[in-house]
Amino acid sequence: MTVPINWYLDSIFPGGSKSPEFATFVAQLTADLAAAKAQPPLPALTPETQSQWIDTINQLYDLSKRLFHAGSFTGCLVSQNVNDDKARLLDGELDSQHAQLETLWTRFAATAAEQPDAAWHALLATDALQPVAFDLNEHRTQAKEKLPAEMEALIAELAADGYHAWDQLYNVVSGSKQVQFEENGKTKTMSLGQLQSKYTDAPDRAVRQRAFTLFEDTWTELAPVVSMALNYQAGFRLTTYRHRGWESVLKEPLFDNRMQRETLDAMWDVIARKSDRLLDYFAAKAKLIGVDRLPWFDVNAPVGNLKSNFEFEDAANFVVENLARVNPDIANFCRMAIDSGWVESENRSGKRAGAFCTRLPLKGETRVFMTFNGSYNGLSTLAHELGHGYHGYVLRDMPFGAQRYTMSVAETASTFNELVVTDAYLNQTTDAGERLGLLDRKLGDAVAFLMNIRARFDFEREFFARRANGQLSVDELSELMVHAQKTAYHDGLAQYHPLFWASKLHFYITRAPFYNFPYTFGFLFSHGIYAMAQEAGAAFKDRYIALLRDTGSMDTETLAKTHLGVDLTKPAFWETAVDEVLADVTPFVEMVNQM
Ligand SMILES: [Zn+2]
Repeated sequence: MTVPINWYLDSIFPGGSKSPEFATFVAQLTADLAAAKAQPPLPALTPETQSQWIDTINQLYDLSKRLFHAGSFTGCLVSQNVNDDKARLLDGELDSQHAQLETLWTRFAATAAEQPDAAWHALLATDALQPVAFDLNEHRTQAKEKLPAEMEALIAELAADGYHAWDQLYNVVSGSKQVQFEENGKTKTMSLGQLQSKYTDAPDRAVRQRAFTLFEDTWTELAPVVSMALNYQAGFRLTTYRHRGWESVLKEPLFDNRMQRETLDAMWDVIARKSDRLLDYFAAKAKLIGVDRLPWFDVNAPVGNLKSNFEFEDAANFVVENLARVNPDIANFCRMAIDSGWVESENRSGKRAGAFCTRLPLKGETRVFMTFNGSYNGLSTLAHELGHGYHGYVLRDMPFGAQRYTMSVAETASTFNELVVTDAYLNQTTDAGERLGLLDRKLGDAVAFLMNIRARFDFEREFFARRANGQLSVDELSELMVHAQKTAYHDGLAQYHPLFWASKLHFYITRAPFYNFPYTFGFLFSHGIYAMAQEAGAAFKDRYIALLRDTGSMDTETLAKTHLGVDLTKPAFWETAVDEVLADVTPFVEMVNQM
């Protein structure tokens, strides 16, 4: 049997964007949201009103689950055909439903914050709500930390035209800019994203260098405008925090990621101590490229030679067979997902770029979207996205309020799958070019997570500390950036990227401040788990599943303590994880020395 290369969406709602069933589903959801909004406020929480509270909460979760389901479906439709205008319309229409639902939750959380602790805890102890107590407590705690409901509502409304508008302005400025780039005698018009992949991925060093120079020049031109976006949105955030009485800019991102400050500090301390091991990798790679020291644009330069003509079916079989050696449960899920048409992998035009995995909670199913082009990268992406799918799958029978996990642990299962498959491939290939290419790929990740993201975090923290006393000029921002890069890269590069603060979209995402450290946390968390899984062998399987099942109902420290028996606020776990990541340096250096 040949495996399907297109996903099957008709079992979710038949008929794609013209589905009458989907139209009915959305109409009902719209009506139910309006009815929920029209309900009178909840009465004071007492033993007598407890059941009314339970009904309201169940209704909120029911609406959330249905809206999530609808959003996943339209997300799939839009991605599989970017020219499906009807799908885009349907997707856009859900925005207002999301805003309404958010208002309902905010109203509920504010009311919950006003209730006495004893009555609240009695409510959460009921059989109906105990499984979602963690999530409900989070809503209430957050409301307690904020200003009174009407002031928060005003901030949210002003943020739409102020705070978040700077984010949108950045997207327009960076997204609409085009440049002329000459290659092989032909001048091409490119977006800044395309130019960036030229300076990182082009095999020809001269092309990389020219692309990087043009990239920096272009951002020099845009810097005065985007520095306003950065300064003003930071000002908005700092003012809001000041009124709420929040002293640290890390309070919000740490809360959003269910993490303690001690954990973050322990992680960065270990990285600061150990990441200079990557300097040996830089030296070996410089030797390979033929330069004394790597400049910024050579760090990701392609080396080695990875196979690029995989058939999808072979790639799928490789993923399943090798995951089976580590955990048959994951392998069975992957086989089922691939054979049942849960994966859209066809290489055709008209599809959205990139890859993702989405959950359809009303069906207990997931769907994976990607474009498989036969490269090793495609094989690895398949393993990665199926890891997300598996994570969603083990959560499928939990109450919806216990299914939401944060960015910090979102990449646990995906990175785990990727590691298993990459190591299996490394062990099986006898081709030196392939081995070198794979090791370089893994070490490229190490540089990204242990150095590049560390520089972003240090920059952002320092920027906010200084911004509290006034705006920073373009030059000051660039100086700050280079300083952070030199520290994170242990002075190991010949040239840095001063305007990185301007070119990196992540600094401008107002809905997720400090969109950096959760990446490094997740990467190392998964490596630590992978190291433990290798040591524990088959016995680890059940612990892994139990850990994934609790990602929606525990903070990260409790999750690690309960299922791995480790204390994330102490260095030991991070040392194991970082050592696991850095173990590839020696074989890479040895290979280069033998060449
Ligand atoms: Zn992922």
